[in-house]
Amino acid sequence: MQLSLALARSPLESVRDALLCEFGPQRPVSRMDPISQLVKASISGRTRDAVSWAAFLRLRAEFRCWEDLARAPVAALARLIDDVTFAPDKARHLTTALTMIEAKVGWLSLSHLKTLTVDQARWELQALPGVGVEVAACVLNFSDLAMRALVVDTHIHRVARRIGLVGAGDATHAYHALMDLAPDAWTADDLFELHWLMKRGLGQMLCPHEAPRCGACPMKAICAKVGVEGATVLAWRPRG
Ligand code: SF4
Repeated sequence: MQLSLALARSPLESVRDALLCEFGPQRPVSRMDPISQLVKASISGRTRDAVSWAAFLRLRAEFRCWEDLARAPVAALARLIDDVTFAPDKARHLTTALTMIEAKVGWLSLSHLKTLTVDQARWELQALPGVGVEVAACVLNFSDLAMRALVVDTHIHRVARRIGLVGAGDATHAYHALMDLAPDAWTADDLFELHWLMKRGLGQMLCPHEAPRCGACPMKAICAKVGVEGATVLAWRPRG
């Protein structure tokens, strides 16, 4: 069954409101500079947060500055982060990416991205090795650039599919589908909050890959997995 009624309220607002009631506000308490955020995001893929944070802190302790990391031997860097997944690939990509930024900008900085549109900035980041849509959104949204980009990781991609917010497709498809659903009035902080509500609250606690706890979930009234496939998204039309 598909609903044809056009709604003025995005389903993401319903998701956000229900998760806020369950898990409370998730506002940023601090933001790193974009290069530090790029380093952190680049080593974090398919790795538990505690492991990637520990690896990131080892890098900060080892290198006087990120320029030194850019010039470090890849093998030594890979050893420093050897408990994250794909450490040799991540080490190689990261040193190359930092070197490319230095060559393009003249020094190691990404602050100029703030002057670009979100898509322009995202494409500039995604031209770097090892940087896909998730890492690019991390840099744009989590860092002190504070730009409007939703970080769609595997947890958010999974729960968005189950709820019916996005259809089949890869992470890039999910990013665009969810950004299209984000109300124009939502700020970078709002998208930051939605990320953590959907990831840590919903994705990790209630709706893991195996055995989702639908009975305890605040999404169950609107979730396609327990309700009407496709109803949530297909019913919504943007304002104006
Ligand atoms: S209702 Fe079930 S499938 Fe849907 S988001 Fe909640 S736990 Fe996941």
